[in-house]
Amino acid sequence: MNYNSTRDKSKVVSASQAIAQGISEEGGLFVPQQLPKYTMDDIKAMLSADYRGRAKKIMGDFLSDFTAEEIEESVNAAYTAEKFGGENPAPISYIESGDKKMALLELWHGPTCAFKDMALQILPHLLTKSVKKTYNGKEAVILVATSGDTGKAALEGFKDVDGTKIMVFYPTGGVSPMQKRQMATQKGDNVSVVAIRGNFDDAQTGVKKIFTNNEIKQRLAENNMLFSSANSINWGRLLPQIVYYFSAYCDMVNEGRIALGDKINVCVPTGNFGNILASFYAMNMGLPVGRFICASNSNNVLTDFIKTGTYDKKRKFFTTISPSMDILVSSNLERLLYHISGENAEKVAELMNALNTEGVYTVDDEIKEKLNKYFWGGYCDDDNTQKTIGDLYKNENYLADTHTAVAVNVYEQYAKETGDMTPVVIASTASPYKFAKAVLASVTDEALPEDEFSMVDELSAKTGTAVPAPLASLKDAEERFSFVCDVDEMPQTVLSGLSING
Ligand SMILES: *Cc1c(COP(=O)(O)O)cnc(C)c1O
Repeated sequence: MNYNSTRDKSKVVSASQAIAQGISEEGGLFVPQQLPKYTMDDIKAMLSADYRGRAKKIMGDFLSDFTAEEIEESVNAAYTAEKFGGENPAPISYIESGDKKMALLELWHGPTCAFKDMALQILPHLLTKSVKKTYNGKEAVILVATSGDTGKAALEGFKDVDGTKIMVFYPTGGVSPMQKRQMATQKGDNVSVVAIRGNFDDAQTGVKKIFTNNEIKQRLAENNMLFSSANSINWGRLLPQIVYYFSAYCDMVNEGRIALGDKINVCVPTGNFGNILASFYAMNMGLPVGRFICASNSNNVLTDFIKTGTYDKKRKFFTTISPSMDILVSSNLERLLYHISGENAEKVAELMNALNTEGVYTVDDEIKEKLNKYFWGGYCDDDNTQKTIGDLYKNENYLADTHTAVAVNVYEQYAKETGDMTPVVIASTASPYKFAKAVLASVTDEALPEDEFSMVDELSAKTGTAVPAPLASLKDAEERFSFVCDVDEMPQTVLSGLSING
């Protein structure tokens, strides 16, 4: 199976090239030329497999220039019971009371307690194998700009992986205290973490400039290195996310919640549109999904797009209690546009160009109609997010994080407005302990303690839930990284970090 660029169909690359390269030269994203198609019998055959078995089948069907051994090795190394706290890395919690019926697919049992682990635990294995196939012998240098979750998940995935080095830049003051502590205490011999004086956009722009700086690229080449990307536009991050939708469906059949062949709906708290797009791919491969419910916080650019067909990023940016969804340019939407426009690369290039130059585009009626056939969009502000966390805890004894609560709230809006009672899978994307302050404030009326770990302890004492071990251990962990630099010092920081500053 080969891959095209969303902006230029004449670009055709193999799976390993798509993963090693990350993004196409002209700025397009790589998409599979065709999808594996599964019949109900194929899905039935997955029922008896475990998560790893399902992952090997599905990922193997996409990664046609990988050997079966390479896929086996990658999957077995990534999804261990040790790393994910149990045999099933993506277990489901059911909420069923009255007319409320929700399956919460918990994707946060990995080493960094957010759903990014589902992809970033396996990406390093796929990436090193891809680099070996396409740029044999080179060392991959991964640069990441992060607003919190991606940086830590990438560090944890790439730490001590042979043939790679990873550098993460985060905005000093722009991440939560827990996220900062997670990164500053990161272990591993091939990792470095740098805080920059600026915001997330400054960090991201700085990294992009380094990626395209010819002098730096030349210096890397002389030292047998090349840049690579671990952010969510890489196909190697999207593919592993398709697996858990099939796996959740199989688990629901096995647990007697649905019958094989029944339709489900999917609701996802969305930022960069990666997670929800993975479920759309699953549907196009044969998973019986009726509707995709796209949940946003106050940065509701996607809600407006789904309702009106106009994507307008020129709007106020809100800093919310669900920070991993604070985003106005939702990169993976480009892949959806490609597929629902009938793979019209010229059209996609035109729309993305308009977004870059004017900050806004409008899709035609045909695309809008397709979009609304599958997608429903809604949003939830901070007050309603906290109210939802409080209600879920009080009425259902379920402790949700801020992102998951946005999805639950928007799903309830959807059910009320449409009356559609199809069983729903809601993506639960982070541990509540990663956002302890907002979660604790939602379940108590008492004054909050001052420091992060006191809040964590109090949340645990109040709710009787356990603090995830990877977060509990941070309290006494040694801080390894405290370096802060200005944005214009980033290139020099990269070169000296790699010991190639000549
Ligand atoms: C990244 C993230 C999201 C958004 O996922 P996308 O794939 O970017 O849409 C939602 N919740 C949490 C906790 C995240 O870390």
